[in-house]
Amino acid sequence: MPCKSNDELKELVNEARKITKSGRVADYIPALGKANPNDLSIALNFPDGRCFSAGDIEKKFSLQSISKVITLALVLMDRGKEYVFERVGMEPTGDPFNSIAKLESMAPSKPLNPMINAGALAVTHMIKGESIEDRFQRLLQFVRELSGNDGIQFNQEIARSEYDTAHLNRALCYFLKQHHIIEEDVDELIDLYTKQCAIEMSCLDLARIGIVFALDGKDPQTGNQIMPAKIARICKTFMVTCGMYNASGEFAIKIGIPAKSGVAGGIMGSVPGKFGIGIFGPALDDKGNSIAGIKLLELLSKNYNLSMF
Ligand code: GLU
Repeated sequence: MPCKSNDELKELVNEARKITKSGRVADYIPALGKANPNDLSIALNFPDGRCFSAGDIEKKFSLQSISKVITLALVLMDRGKEYVFERVGMEPTGDPFNSIAKLESMAPSKPLNPMINAGALAVTHMIKGESIEDRFQRLLQFVRELSGNDGIQFNQEIARSEYDTAHLNRALCYFLKQHHIIEEDVDELIDLYTKQCAIEMSCLDLARIGIVFALDGKDPQTGNQIMPAKIARICKTFMVTCGMYNASGEFAIKIGIPAKSGVAGGIMGSVPGKFGIGIFGPALDDKGNSIAGIKLLELLSKNYNLSMF
C-alpha cells in the first residue's frame, strides 16, 4: 500500500518547519554539513498497512545513532541478554552521547548503556560474523527486513567522512580495548560502526521499522516475529530512558513515547501497539535532536494524546 499524503500532517509540518531556523545542521561529520536545514518530513505506519506522510518524504538521511537500537536488537539475538549486559550497562548517563568521562570514573570500567557511543561501539563489536564485510551485510539484511525494503544501502560518502574524522570514537575504542570490553582492531571496528551509522533511508522506511518495535518485534505485513518480543521491549525501554540523548527525561514528560534520534536529523518513534513514526529534519537543537522533529512530536502527542504515561 503506498504512503498517502495527509493534510492534517501537512499542517503540523508547516507549523513545525518554522522552528528549523533556530536549529543547526551537524557538521562534526563533514558530509552531514551539506544537509538543507529547512527540510522536514514525517511518516506514520499503521499495523493494517496504512501509511500517512507529509513534507520532503523523498529525502534520504543516514540513521546515525538510530542504528544503535537496531544493532542492539541484532546482538541480543546473536549473543543473549547475559552476555551483552555483562559488557554494557542499562543506566542513563545524563552526559552527551560521545562523552568519555564516566568510562574513567566507573570501576570496573563499562559503558553505562548501549545508546551512548561507548556502549554502541561495544555493541557493534559483538555483531557476529566472519569478517567486517560479513558482519555489516548481516546488519544491512536485518535493516532491510525491518523496513520491508530490499533496496536499503549505506551512504559511502558519509561513512568515509565519519571514518576520516572519528578521533573521539577511536579514543573511546582504545579505552574499551584497554579494559577488555572490545578485542578487535580499532580501525576495523570504526569501519564497521561508521558504515552502520551511514545506513540510509527515507522517513517512510524509518516509520516501517518503528512499527516493528511498536508491535513487539512483529512484521506488520506477514505477522512473522522478526525478533523476540522480549528483545523489542528491551530496545523500547532504552529508547525511553536514553533514546533522545540527555534530553530523554524532558522528552518522556512532554511527549511520552519510545523514540530514538540521530545527528543526521532522523527520529524513529514507536507508539506501543499502535504505530511507527519516521521523521527527518536535519536542523538540530543544542542536545543534538531534530529541533522541528521534536516540535512535530509535541504537536502529535498533544493532538492525539499519545503519551504512554
Ligand atoms: N555516527 C555518529 C557518531 O558516532 C552517531 C552519533 C549520533 O547520531 O548521535 O558520532
